[in-house]
Amino acid sequence: MSSSTIDIIDYRVGWEMATRIAGDKEGSCRIAIIGGGFSGAALAAQLLSAGQPSVSVILIGRDGCPGRGVAYSTRCEGHLLNVPAQNMSAFAHDRDHFLRWARLHYGSDVRPDEFLPRRSYGQYVASILQKASEGHNAALEWRQDEAISVNRANGRAEIALLGGDRIAADKIILALGNFPPGDPKLPGRKEYSPRYVPNGWAESALDHIREDKSVLLLGSGLTSVDVAISLRERKFEGKIHILSRHGLLPQEHKRNLPRTAWGINLFPCTARGLLRLVRARVREAEEHHGDWRAVIDSLRPFTQRIWQSLPLQEQRRFLRHLRSYWDVHRHRVAPEIGALLSSELRDCRIEVHAGRVTKYHENPEHVEVTYRDRKKGESRKLHVHRVINCTGPELDCRRVTNPLWRDLIHQKLVRPDPLFLGLDTAQNGAVIDAHGISSDFLYAIGPLRKGSLWETIAVPEIRAQVSALALHLLSSFEQQGWGGLARELTTAQT
Ligand SMILES: Cc1cc2nc3c(=O)[nH]c(=O)nc-3n(C[C@H](O)[C@H](O)[C@H](O)COP(=O)(O)OP(=O)(O)OC[C@H]3O[C@@H](n4cnc5c(N)ncnc54)[C@H](O)[C@@H]3O)c2cc1C
Repeated sequence: MSSSTIDIIDYRVGWEMATRIAGDKEGSCRIAIIGGGFSGAALAAQLLSAGQPSVSVILIGRDGCPGRGVAYSTRCEGHLLNVPAQNMSAFAHDRDHFLRWARLHYGSDVRPDEFLPRRSYGQYVASILQKASEGHNAALEWRQDEAISVNRANGRAEIALLGGDRIAADKIILALGNFPPGDPKLPGRKEYSPRYVPNGWAESALDHIREDKSVLLLGSGLTSVDVAISLRERKFEGKIHILSRHGLLPQEHKRNLPRTAWGINLFPCTARGLLRLVRARVREAEEHHGDWRAVIDSLRPFTQRIWQSLPLQEQRRFLRHLRSYWDVHRHRVAPEIGALLSSELRDCRIEVHAGRVTKYHENPEHVEVTYRDRKKGESRKLHVHRVINCTGPELDCRRVTNPLWRDLIHQKLVRPDPLFLGLDTAQNGAVIDAHGISSDFLYAIGPLRKGSLWETIAVPEIRAQVSALALHLLSSFEQQGWGGLARELTTAQT
């Protein structure tokens, strides 16, 4: 599909009209989902598709419209999915759903291995929610607001919203996505630093950047790549410096790779053992004209199990020594974006630096950033007109200041996982409280479960969680006397 064929469909209007207010009917069960990104919207759609009059869903999100979240609300045409269309269905039981939708809306020539624009994926997610909300008996309420606390009294839970309202629910699902970007702690940077942009994802991040000036992107992962693409789309012609500890850019996907099978069921329980095994497999693949990408991809169905079988100290070792390398090989960019990056690097329009920032000094004209070069150990200086924080989501939940997160921890309703990557959760997604007890009303889905599952941030894993959690919730209502709900959903999925 060529990007010029994209025809933006605004689901907002139709979708608001289609949404029925989910009443608090006698004998009904209310499920409140906090977070209106992919995880929240896909879960709401699955629950509604059971078509049960006794279930109502309330979706609470900060954004103007559900289904997009951080990833799919971009307006930049050049921001492509980093997963091919054939793997982006929102439904675990219907793997071609997105491909069919894309062919219907953008032309029958959309290929399964195509990397489509992320904003069209946002439309897709909004459309499945809209369709589910129009179904027989569907009761969905969309609240654009921020949840700031959760309380439980007399067997019922209540969510307090920033706008002042309170929402009662039987079950609450936390679908909050990734944490906001962390502060890279630049020595010498003052609280008021007008040339510093704290969040590369913010809509206003690139405002006032002049066409001919230079910028420094801190971090060299997918966020930096996104920002570099946005800058060029806005006709920024200046130099883009990218600086990170390792100076590693994400690798790119390759099309038409033959699949590789592991053929084993037991994996080493140490980070070093796993590294050795993967390296051996890559060597083997390359001897047979294969590619390392196929080896990494074939690990995907096992990743959660491997992660959970690693002792805590080995998980820590992985995070300390291997994470940066894993990230750039596992989270790859579309071939089109890889080609763009290569050409920018070749023409020296983008320059990548590896090292640690030792000093930040800003004056009205520019910023001087000093860093210690990773390879040579010497100090280097960069003079740029703007510094943009692209270090990605905060990785340590202890530093997150979001009011809801703080409130949940303060009330001991949740506890961080032992690696402080997110929340400690049980296998079914129930959060584990400060006393180590699995909640019977509070669940988490998506990136918040990173510490428990590691591989939990992308659509293929989240959609499996969505199916399992929808079934679990409906079954638990069934046990309480609302007959047939889970059965309906299971039938719909088979
Ligand atoms: C830039 C980017 C590109 C990506 N590209 C891909 C891709 O191509 N393919 C893929 O499979 N995955 C991709 N991902 C991974 C992505 O995390 C998942 O695909 C998916 O979007 C996660 O959805 P989510 O709903 O869990 O989180 P989010 O999309 O982050 O949504 C969470 C929502 O919750 C809201 N929220 C948080 N706290 C509150 C609160 N207290 N009250 C109300 N609302 C709240 C947030 O505002 C946000 O809208 C990408 C991620 C990013 C950041």
